[in-house]
Amino acid sequence: MTHCVALVVAAGRGHRAGGGLPKQYRSLLGRTMLRRALDSFLAHPRVDAIRPVIHPDDRQLFDAATQGLDLLDPVPGGASRQDSVRLGLESLAERAPEQVLIHDAARPFVDGAIITRVLEALADHPGAIPALAVNDTLKRGDGGLVGATVDRAGLWRAQTPQGFRYADILDAHRQATGAELTDDAAVAEKAGLAVALVDGGESNVKITTEEDLKRAQGRLAGAAVRTGFGFDVHRFGAGDHVMLCGVSIPFSAGLEGHSDADVALHALTDALLGAVGAGDIGVHFPPAEARWKGAPSDLFLRRAGDIVAEKGGAIANLDLIIICEAPRIGPHRAAMTARLAEILGLDPDQVNIKGTTTEGLGFTGRNEGIAAQAVATVLFPVNI
Ligand code: MG
Repeated sequence: MTHCVALVVAAGRGHRAGGGLPKQYRSLLGRTMLRRALDSFLAHPRVDAIRPVIHPDDRQLFDAATQGLDLLDPVPGGASRQDSVRLGLESLAERAPEQVLIHDAARPFVDGAIITRVLEALADHPGAIPALAVNDTLKRGDGGLVGATVDRAGLWRAQTPQGFRYADILDAHRQATGAELTDDAAVAEKAGLAVALVDGGESNVKITTEEDLKRAQGRLAGAAVRTGFGFDVHRFGAGDHVMLCGVSIPFSAGLEGHSDADVALHALTDALLGAVGAGDIGVHFPPAEARWKGAPSDLFLRRAGDIVAEKGGAIANLDLIIICEAPRIGPHRAAMTARLAEILGLDPDQVNIKGTTTEGLGFTGRNEGIAAQAVATVLFPVNI
């Protein structure tokens, strides 16, 4: 039985953020908001599956934003957020998870610690939500004037993901149809379920307006920058193709190695791991383990990308240089760039690939193998 499913609600139109696209498909430093939100749940060890709820018109945008991710099939949402959540919950009836986390795709910066706090509180309560105490003094307006000062003691700002026991919240939503409630805790309250408050995060902001989007981009632009370096070599052996950047290139030799010997992906994987202080490829995928024999190396790079996301980082760019006399890199550069962008969910212009020779010198010059060097830049958002 599935224990915990995350329901990620991305069915809104969200045109208040401008830009033509629904906001959840707007890019924040090369990753759509939706993808950023999904990545946090994909990386969480206690989330077993993710059900996206999308607008029926957005299927193509959704497919493009989530290529290669391990998600349940998306289900279409309804006319309101509440309808969308209910439809998402109904779609899980057969799977009947024990717990469900309901999250708005408009909160792309949710982190693993918030998810963990909600799940921990769920062990003792039918519901749990992350929230922040209100610090500003609250006024009730009256015709443009201050009508009254509202006591802020005991007031909280609710965030998502909001966690519930699945059977309870499904029932509550069925009963609340048409009630126009703005979050799932309100649906639970209406059904008499106790909902615990846990600490939310100031960075777990909801992006509604164009200004919110600009501020979020600013958070990434003002981020701490970390750099990682990767280097790898594989020697030529028997074969009729080499794998470079996940692309099969016909050649008069192959590359020897335990996995598919994709020297470029190995250098990139090490660069990403290096940027976030996560060791190297051998730590995560020991060559002594039989299961990595012949493995496609995009697995390694994808995992490195997940580790970057788990640690709260965002890839700014990758620069790769492939060093060999042959095969020629130029004719395959576009395919390689597209493949790297696809594996990591980046824009192609965040990925740069160069090929060079060593003018006949050294082991690459003697056509004994291929070397690759990579540099990765990773940004860690700061709160502003
Ligand atoms: Mg290698």
